[in-house]
Amino acid sequence: MPIMILPDSSFTCTMEEILFMADIPSCYIKDFDAVVKMVDRDEGYILLDRTSFYPVGGGQPNDTGKISWDGRNATVIDVRKKNGIYHYITGEIPDVGTKVACSIDWDRRYAHMKMHTAQHILSAVMWNRYRAVTVGNQIHADYSHIDFHPLEIGQEDIGGIEEEVNEIISSGSKVKVEDHSREFIHNSIEVERIDLSRLPSSVKELRTVLIDDGKIDLCPCAGTHVGDLSELGHLNIVKRKSKGAKRIRVQYELK
Ligand SMILES: [Zn+2]
Repeated sequence: MPIMILPDSSFTCTMEEILFMADIPSCYIKDFDAVVKMVDRDEGYILLDRTSFYPVGGGQPNDTGKISWDGRNATVIDVRKKNGIYHYITGEIPDVGTKVACSIDWDRRYAHMKMHTAQHILSAVMWNRYRAVTVGNQIHADYSHIDFHPLEIGQEDIGGIEEEVNEIISSGSKVKVEDHSREFIHNSIEVERIDLSRLPSSVKELRTVLIDDGKIDLCPCAGTHVGDLSELGHLNIVKRKSKGAKRIRVQYELK
């Protein structure tokens, strides 16, 4: 059975405070202060006591940005989630205990937030229209794609899909983040769309994204999202391509 790729909805194994996890307004944090908790000079990474840098995951690329302290600075070039959030930096490396000012490259992050929120809508529309499950996705700042299965559509179907997605976008519905129990998610989403059985039994609560209070989409997700759908603009489906038996890749952009 095809299983939707579950965006990583648990940061519980990490040791730092993840600022963008709290709610939708926290996804808009561009600048924050933090204290360096660990440094690996050979590998070129640091860990912080709190961060809002998004680590690559769930089809969403990592954030980039700057950190500065005492008149010095470094560039964050990659962010990875391991047993903590690893910020890979170039330039000088601060000592453990240093208070640093962090700044996220906002144009890149905001583009990812919009693309990722649009992905929720397109995935929901494709499920409702065709019972097509999202089995893969990759977000970029300029274009993104989603793989659906099982799905058989032709070019003649694209206009109707675009129209439905853009109607939803222009509704200006609000996006919320709430913690919900595993049972609530299980009872709210068809198991063919999202199968929670792969999640460890220790995960009892899931960060859940609700668009229009769940009427448009309800999905466990730890990505970053915009708060109002009207921020997305207009979605164009650029391409559809067969990726195997009943598997179709849909590429889209936001204008
Ligand atoms: Zn999401």
